[in-house]
Amino acid sequence: MSFKTGRYKGRIGIMAAMPEELQALLDVMPDEAVECVAGREFWVGHLHGREVVAVLSRIGKVAAATTTTVLLSHYGVDQIIFTGVAGGLGDGVRVGDVVVADALVQHDMDASPLFPRFELPGLGVSALSPPAAFTATVRDTVAQVLSPGALTSGGALGDVHLAPLNLGLPKVHQGLVISGDQFINAAQTCRDLTQALPTALAVEMEGAAVAQVCHDFGVPYAVIRTISDRADDDAHIDFPRFVSAVARHYSLAIVEALLQRV
Ligand code: SAH
Repeated sequence: MSFKTGRYKGRIGIMAAMPEELQALLDVMPDEAVECVAGREFWVGHLHGREVVAVLSRIGKVAAATTTTVLLSHYGVDQIIFTGVAGGLGDGVRVGDVVVADALVQHDMDASPLFPRFELPGLGVSALSPPAAFTATVRDTVAQVLSPGALTSGGALGDVHLAPLNLGLPKVHQGLVISGDQFINAAQTCRDLTQALPTALAVEMEGAAVAQVCHDFGVPYAVIRTISDRADDDAHIDFPRFVSAVARHYSLAIVEALLQRV
């Protein structure tokens, strides 16, 4: 069945960027069993009636590309959902917000002068996009999961305490996510990146690699990033606290909802 004509029933690959996120997912998968391929642990099981293969992406573009390739060629998944955290770049993209990628660029790809800066040699483009209909479903689902009702006490995510972290209710953004093999934690680097890629909403280290592999295999994918820091000089301070208090809860709730929608 095509993602355009209805709901997939096939195997779905879930890639988490952090052990905390993966563990939260495994805790709710009743029959998960681990298999080791390419030095990675793949957890195969079921959740909400779907066949799921869950795996830690590992950090960086090559690691994520290898993990994605195994999910596609060894496990034959026909959709991939990636969840993790990212640094916020765009104006109005705050810590605690969630960005759903509708385009992804490798910000450290530069084969100039042979090819324009950022262009993927051989592909003739710099940005890759998941299918628009798939992205729209993902964005709507994320918006529903993070609605004010769900986040107030009594709601599904009512136990996520935003106030102690000085966070407001999260906004869901859709747009360009950029990836590179660099943890960005300097305001000047952010300025350089946004000057070169003005529409970028978030920066991270894996999404565009996942996109390129899924593009080659012709498989729909979603990259969903909770903003953990502003990629500025305080990025390393905000990061660990945020992951355990907020991001892993969002991520599990989002994945569970998507398993029932996509
Ligand atoms: N503390 C982690 C390291 C995380 S590296 C550890 O010890 O394992 C940062 C991860 O979060 C990467 O997977 C990247 O995709 C994402 N990320 C979050 N903020 C980022 C930023 N400012 N720049 C680049 N990647 C960021």
